[in-house]
This record gives sequence, C-alpha cells and structure tokens, in this order.
Amino acid sequence: MCPDNNQPAPADYRPDLQRLRLLVQSAFALFCLYSGIRFYQFYQWALGNSATFVSRPPSVEGFLPIGALISLKRLLLTGVYDPVHPAGLTIFMAALVIGLLLRKGFCGWICPVGFISNLVESLSRKLKLLRHPPLWLDCPLLSLKYLLLAFFVYLILLRMDLRGIEAFGNSPYNLAVDARMLLFFLEPTAITLLVLGFLLVASLFLRNFWCRYLCPYGALLGLLAWLGPLKITRDKQSCIACKKCERACPASLRVAEKNIVNSPECLGCLECVAACPVTDCLEISTYGRRSLPALLLPLGVISVFLLFWSGAALTGHWHSLVPPEILKEYFRLARDLTHH
Ligand code: SF4
Ligand code: SF4
Ligand code: SF4
Repeated sequence: MCPDNNQPAPADYRPDLQRLRLLVQSAFALFCLYSGIRFYQFYQWALGNSATFVSRPPSVEGFLPIGALISLKRLLLTGVYDPVHPAGLTIFMAALVIGLLLRKGFCGWICPVGFISNLVESLSRKLKLLRHPPLWLDCPLLSLKYLLLAFFVYLILLRMDLRGIEAFGNSPYNLAVDARMLLFFLEPTAITLLVLGFLLVASLFLRNFWCRYLCPYGALLGLLAWLGPLKITRDKQSCIACKKCERACPASLRVAEKNIVNSPECLGCLECVAACPVTDCLEISTYGRRSLPALLLPLGVISVFLLFWSGAALTGHWHSLVPPEILKEYFRLARDLTHH
C-alpha cells in the first residue's frame, strides 16, 4: 500500500463534483419549470382563455418517453422522423446514447424527476426518516421497473405493427397527449392525488422510491449502461475502507466492496468519487482498465444532450410540424380523448 495515496485529497485537488452536479441538475430543472410555464400559457391561448400567443416549448415532449419509443420504432422501420413530437424523440435518443456511453448520466445529471427525488432524499435524511429495506423486500421491488420495461417493450417493440404505429401517430390522442399530461397536474383526480401522495411518502422512507423501483425509463438506461464501456473502478490497494462512498451513493451500491462498479442501478452521479477521501482511489474507466478524468462524464452527458438538441434544431427536427391552430382544436378536446 502506498502511504502517499492514503493522504486525504487537498481541498482544491479535484473539481467539486457535488456542487457541479447540483448546478447542472438545478439548471435543467429550472429550464423544465420555465418550459412548463410557457406550455401552460400556450394551453391557455389554445383554450381561448388568453389572447396572448406563446409558442409551445418542444422540450415538454421529453416527458413522453412511451410515445418516443413508438416514434423510434417508426424511425427505424420507415426512416420517418416523428413530425408531431420530434423533440420527444430527440431527447429520448440522446438519453439512450448517454446511457450507452456515459452510464445513467441522464438520470444522474439531467432528469428533473431524479433531481426532485434527490431533494426528497436530502429532506428525509434531515428528518431521519430514511430506512434501508431488507434484501428480501429490496430485490423484488427492484425488479418492478424491469417488469414494467418488459411490458412496454413487448407491447410496443413486439406487438405494435406499422399500421398501429401510424394510426397512433396521427391520432387525436397523440396530438393532444402533452395537453393531457398538463391536465394530469392541473386537474388531478382523487386517484392521481392518492398515487402522488403515496409516492411522496414512500420516497421519504425509501431512498429514490420512484427511480429505484418503478421507472421503466431508468431501467432501460441502466441496462444500456451495463452494456456500455464506462465503469466506476476502485483501487483496492489504496482504499482505506472508510465507506464514505457507500454512504454517499444514492443507489445504495456497495462500492467499497467492489473493484468495478457496473450495476445497472449506478446513476453515474459520481457522488462516490466526490466523497472518497483518497486521491485516485475511485475513478471512472473504460471496461475497468483505462482511467479517465471524472469530469469527462458530466461534460460528456451535457455535450451529447446539446449535440442532439442543436442537431435536431438545425435540421428542422425539434419543433412540431403541426401548426398551433390545428393543435388548438385538439387541445380543446384533450379532456375527453382516450387511447384505444
Ligand atoms: S429513473 Fe426515471 S425518473 Fe428517475 S432519474 Fe432516471 S429517468 Fe428520471
Ligand atoms: S456507484 Fe457512484 S456513480 Fe454509481 S450511483 Fe453510486 S455514487 Fe453514483
Ligand atoms: S470512500 Fe470508498 S473507495 Fe474511497 S477510501 Fe473510502 S471505502 Fe475506499
């Protein structure tokens, strides 16, 4: 064991990854909030409640991953880029590429739901409510999101044929699906409130309840990350077994016991790397061999995301091709639309 390696890292030795993550997550969350407000204003215009036209922000489509999976299948089968919700498809593809190359960096650095989940976790730590479920409960719960993912993959990738995809793409339901999403929050039913209340309470006791146990999007990104080249590696020679990494890990992974962390649950958040007091003990690496600077992960995540966004914007694949006047008609019907 090299004694020098066991010296705590000087305060200025490496970038403050935790602060950087907070900054990036806050920036994306604020942007989503801004988009949400603009979308609400567009909705009010569409209903005729406001005379001021506000253009519909395409980024709200990022919250429609099931539609994006359908659009991706359509793109692969026909080469047609979804004209109704192109931004949703773009964001989905960016998340998949990030998942494959940069672990679940989309979850760890971008997704606003993950950010809210982190905030709830911090609150529950302060209130000392957080509990670690026993393995017999944790494991079956962990499998739920993979079962949900399998269900959507079966339904969309295996069962839905091209005719069904085209019919869904042009349906009034799809044209107003973002308005229905807004109504979900603006006019919640008793069941919606009950479910949201349950998720909040469960998240206060069980870390990242929604992300950890229920989100099929996260499950898909986790499987891609598991296949991808980037891993977290621990140098067991220099590790002092302080377990700070494990206490910091939002995915409750046993980082201090592994030489290579490649769990599909790993968010690529780098909280473990930031918490480790030993210089270069925890690093990111390709296939557990070649070490890379930790900053590469967040920079890569942001770059891939911006690359997809700018590429789509420049090539006309960001804004919906459906004119606002047409959307207006469907938004007015949104409350009564159902998908068959
Ligand atoms: S698991 Fe789902 S909700 Fe959570 S951060 Fe990832 S994509 Fe977002
Ligand atoms: S192992 Fe490290 S990078 Fe992965 S989730 Fe835990 S803290 Fe984040
Ligand atoms: S934080 Fe984890 S990896 Fe770093 S020295 Fe402590 S136990 Fe070892």
